[in-house]
This record gives sequence, C-alpha cells and structure tokens, in this order.
Amino acid sequence: MAKAKKLTKGQLRRINANQAKKLARKSASIEWQDDELGESQQGVVISRFGQHADVESTSGEIIRCNLRRSVGSLVCGDKVLWRQGKETQHSISGVIEAVHERDSVLSRPDVYDGVKPIAANISQIIIVTSVLPAFNADIIDRYLVAAEQTDIPPIILLNKIDLLDEELTEIIDEQLQIYQDIGYKILAVSNKTQEGIATLKAQLTDNTSIFVGQSGVGKSTLTNSLMPELGLLTKEVSENSGLGQHTTTVARLYHFLDGGDLIDSPGIREFGLWHLTPEQVYQGFIEFADYLGTCKFRDCKHQTDPGCALVAACEAGAIHPDRLASFQRILSSLSTNTLTSRFND
Ligand code: GDP
Ligand code: ZN
Repeated sequence: MAKAKKLTKGQLRRINANQAKKLARKSASIEWQDDELGESQQGVVISRFGQHADVESTSGEIIRCNLRRSVGSLVCGDKVLWRQGKETQHSISGVIEAVHERDSVLSRPDVYDGVKPIAANISQIIIVTSVLPAFNADIIDRYLVAAEQTDIPPIILLNKIDLLDEELTEIIDEQLQIYQDIGYKILAVSNKTQEGIATLKAQLTDNTSIFVGQSGVGKSTLTNSLMPELGLLTKEVSENSGLGQHTTTVARLYHFLDGGDLIDSPGIREFGLWHLTPEQVYQGFIEFADYLGTCKFRDCKHQTDPGCALVAACEAGAIHPDRLASFQRILSSLSTNTLTSRFND
C-alpha cells in the first residue's frame, strides 16, 4: 500500500489498464461463434468474479457465463441479456451480451476510480438494530446518511423485541418515533419468538434487499431463518466452480424462501462505514433540507455559531434535538474517521 501511494495517478491508471487487458486475454480463449449459441434471453447476475458471472435464467437455472467485450460494468443484481452455449467449455456455458439499465447502484469508494459499483437494482436497505448491543441512534443516523446517498429507500428494523420490558419499550418507542416522524418506515421483530416476522416477510417480497447494521444485532440469524437453504447453496456454488474463495467475498444474490431477494457480501456489510463528506451528511439528514444554506454565516459549522438556522429550527421544535446532536457528532467525527483506509490496500 505504501508503495502504491508513491505512484502517480497516471501510472496507477496504466497498471490498472494492463491488468484488465491481461484478464481479458485469458477469458477470450473461449470464443463462441454465433451458431454455437442459443437465442438471447433474460437473466439476473447472481455474482460476478473476474471475467465471468453466474447468471440465473428465468427458469431458475444458474449458468456460468463469459462477458462480451462490449459489456461494460457488470455487478451482482444486474439484469442482462445472455445466450446459452450449445456446449460447455471450461465450465463456461453461456455469454452475457448486454446489461439493462440499472434502477439503482451501490458503490463503494475506490482508490483508483473514485467509486466502484458492487451491486445493482437493490430496492431497499434494511438497517437492523436491537437493544443488545444497545440501541444506538448515532449508528442508525450514519446508515441513514449512507442510504440517502444511494437513493435506495432505507427501512429501520428493530430486532430482538423479546428482550424488551415495559420500561425499555417506552424508551425505544420514543426513539423510533423520531424516525417515523421524519418519514422512515419502522419494523419490529423477534427472531426468537417470530413476532413481526410475517410483516417483515411481506416487506421483503417483490424487493431486492440488503441487511446492514452493527455486528451482533442479528443479521445472520435473521438471514438464516428466512433462508434455511442458504448454507447449502453457498457450498454448492463453491464446489462446482473451483472458484470457491472468490464466491465468498464478492456480492451474491440469494432468494428468500417466501419471496424477495437478498444481496449480501462482507463488503456490503461494511456499507455505512464508508467515507462520508460533510455535504453527504447534510443531505442525509433529510428533515434539515429546508434550513440548509439559510444560516447567517456561509461557513457555519452548525455547532455554536451565531445565527445557525439548524439550531434555531431545533429551538423552534421543527428539528428533534437528538437528531441535531447526532448530526453535529457525525460532522465532527469526519476529520478523524479512518474506517475507509482498508479500501486503499
Ligand atoms: P449479526 O452480527 O448481526 O449477524 O448478529 P447474529 O445473527 O450473529 O446474532 C448475534 C446474537 O444475537 C446471537 O447470539 C443470536 O442468537 C442473537 N439473536 C438474534 N436474533 C435474536 C432475537 O430475536 N432475540 C434474541 N434474544 N437474540 C437474538
Ligand atoms: Zn448552521
């Protein structure tokens, strides 16, 4: 990493381009002729690795495909046109010819290109929270800011409601009401007692979701119970492909047992911890929109500055004091945030 930093941007770009060319030459060894391919059909990219992708056909089959050179960026969740090869060569049995326009794209910061797409067509971000580890509104706010950047609607899911006594219920309800008042959808479930799970299932149907949230809130437990065949599926793919270790790190699309899809990967689970700019934080507190730019001083830090419109709105009861405090904490944490450094390796 230290070495890479000394290279100029131009050098990095050339190194990248050379690597891409090498990869392209490798996979180009399988060249399908037109008469060796079936009709063009619709499919969804289940996962993408190197110059290949696993595509799911409309009938639910998974076909390992090459990519036509004309296909640009391709990620998990992309809807594609592909053609089946008349025979399988080197475990490749089809080719992706075109990618449909994306409804949404999730990108992470990338040292070379600024941002790198990792999944497409996600329709909702489920922010999972709980009372164990303790309910943390600052973390929810941070996820909300990150979600607002993507234009993918977020939903707040409180898990482990079996652990709530009367007093805790009251405290948490008050906290969640703040989000409901701003316009966010709230769901409450217990994976243990299955309370609320039917409502969650209905919310997952007809959507492609990601689960995000701090470690220990119950994302894995939820995923496993909504997708009992998941363990099996992951094993199957890695055994067939001989590319097992790759398939565990890249984003992959799974089907919930009762409808709807989930896209998951270690990278996606780090969503919300990616670097944020102050502008993104402003935009991410959606109820602040009317007041931004109306502070007395243009470089207002919205802390103790005189004539701050946000502080005034808070005093007038238009902005919740907890949200303003959280906004101020996130802003002042940005300069010391080193969470993104791992992406520079
Ligand atoms: P993750 O890090 O978000 O994937 O969280 P895990 O799924 O690993 O869950 C962390 C812990 O919370 C585990 O010990 C689970 O058994 C527990 N857990 C998950 N869901 C519930 C629930 O609804 N109620 C209770 N009481 N515990 C739960
Ligand atoms: Zn201000």
